[in-house]
Amino acid sequence: MVMKMSRLYAPTLKEDPAEAELASHKLMLRAGMIRKQAAGLYSYLPLAWRSLRKIEAIVRDEMDAAGAQEMLLPILTDADLWRESGRWNAYGPELMRVTDRHGREFALGPTHEETITDLITNELKSYKQLPVNLYQIQDKFRDEMRPRFGLMRGREFIMKDGYSFNATQESLQETYDAMKQAYANICERVGLKALPVVADSGQIGGDTSVEFMALADAGEAALVYCDSCGFAADEEAATTTVPVSEGPGDGTLTKVHTPGLGSIEAVAAFFGFPENGTRKSLALITEDGTPVVAIVPGDHELNDCKAEKLFGAYHLMTEDELTEYGLHKGFIGPVGLPEGIRLVVDETLRDSKSWTCGANEVDYHYTGACPGRDFTVDEWADLITVHAGDPCPHCGEALAGARGIEVSQVFQLGTKYSASMGATFTDEDGREKPFLMGCYGVGVSRTLAAIIEQHNDEQGIIWPVSVAPYEVSVISLDKKGEALDAAAAIADELEASGVDVIFDDRAERPGVKFADNDLMGFPYQVIVGKRGLANGTVELKSRATGEREDVALDEVALRVADLVKAQRA
Ligand code: ATP
Ligand code: MG
Repeated sequence: MVMKMSRLYAPTLKEDPAEAELASHKLMLRAGMIRKQAAGLYSYLPLAWRSLRKIEAIVRDEMDAAGAQEMLLPILTDADLWRESGRWNAYGPELMRVTDRHGREFALGPTHEETITDLITNELKSYKQLPVNLYQIQDKFRDEMRPRFGLMRGREFIMKDGYSFNATQESLQETYDAMKQAYANICERVGLKALPVVADSGQIGGDTSVEFMALADAGEAALVYCDSCGFAADEEAATTTVPVSEGPGDGTLTKVHTPGLGSIEAVAAFFGFPENGTRKSLALITEDGTPVVAIVPGDHELNDCKAEKLFGAYHLMTEDELTEYGLHKGFIGPVGLPEGIRLVVDETLRDSKSWTCGANEVDYHYTGACPGRDFTVDEWADLITVHAGDPCPHCGEALAGARGIEVSQVFQLGTKYSASMGATFTDEDGREKPFLMGCYGVGVSRTLAAIIEQHNDEQGIIWPVSVAPYEVSVISLDKKGEALDAAAAIADELEASGVDVIFDDRAERPGVKFADNDLMGFPYQVIVGKRGLANGTVELKSRATGEREDVALDEVALRVADLVKAQRA
């Protein structure tokens, strides 16, 4: 039976809901797709559920094609498993904990490495049975600090999580590569423009974790990517070799009076040099209490993540600490550093021989300061946040900047869980070894939100055909009579030919119907009215392009069915 719009449970809103900031969140509320039950908890109404099921079908198709097997684990997971892996404590308050009537503790699964590892332990025993790749599609629970943006960051959300067990690194790499390809295919098939971003690099140089980032201004992640070689990375994690210009002067160490010029901008302006030709010095205290001066090119920032890896939980020196260590704010530099302060310098400055930098004396800078000759560097390290415009670390072309939504991630876990939980198999040589594991997650409900974030306009959602709740809506301009009957017949014919069709039979004004259909974003609208019928035609409108054309009444169903089927992924 054709679905009738008069029966559809999709309570639409005329106004933008005040609680929503993002386009996807607003539109899902306005189109009657979701409703909030409590912070981060949403009900999926019929339109959302239809799209989610289509996304899931694409995910299943790609997983099965790549050799993974679907299964289902319990949502509740025994606390003892989490204790074994050490994550009962490590996961912190994000883990939603439950106690049963006997006082036994459980967690609502935020991810299932522990459960799946426990499942296969003692049953998967020999290298001959490997590799095994299992997945499920299930609600996950995370007590996020800030649940927000609708389905983007929920406390209960739908995830496809998969886990592989492999005997060798080569085998793990093979499964991982297959999953990575499947994830790229999924993004393409659901209509997402996404970049695979290296989240972690392995020791051998290859990647061991990649996040798929759907490009959207609303994304939480800042990315840099290279149009010419395809490299992409989180701004935080990216490395680069920034070309640094040498400062002014002839390379001899010269002290210059720079009264009141305590900022990079002022110093660069004073010497008439780009900021890149100056050196920025930051004084900080590492986690273990060591005073450090860190130096980066003047036009770059010290990257917090990288600094934390190097220095632990560090902090920038307070005014009192600066005084205590004999440093002067705005005039810190590498030459004549007080005793006991460690000098750590960004890698990009290795080949630079003539620095403009603070002179460790109020109102003075040096030009022509040369490492090795005028001061000693204790450590060279990767310290800076990469910017759009910096050269690509692989091919040297300028990097572009973008924002992204993490929709999925593939990860080589190695023996992290198998070793701590004693999950072993017997290898070819008869020795017992912990499994090599990979894990692979797709945020199914977040993917839905990301798709809308990329596909919308002033009027509403513009569904890609592959994930549209209905592919076509047939709209009657009249409440009864000829137009209504003709529209019903077209809808029947479309349904019979396997198209997902909805029939707008409502007794509403045409303007209201057009607005609702545009808001709900069905890819094609077939508009049936008396005037066209008098000439034997109906109107066919594409939601994406807004183009309308008159099509013969007896041809329209076939035309639309062909259009739709050609665009299904
Ligand atoms: P994030 O960094 O955004 O918190 P994550 O890296 O912790 O995500 P994973 O553990 O990699 O998330 O989970 C796999 C996928 O599940 C993510 O790529 C994302 O698409 C989705 N996901 C994670 N947390 C949420 C959430 N709170 N709401 C909706 N989807 C989520
Ligand atoms: Mg992730």
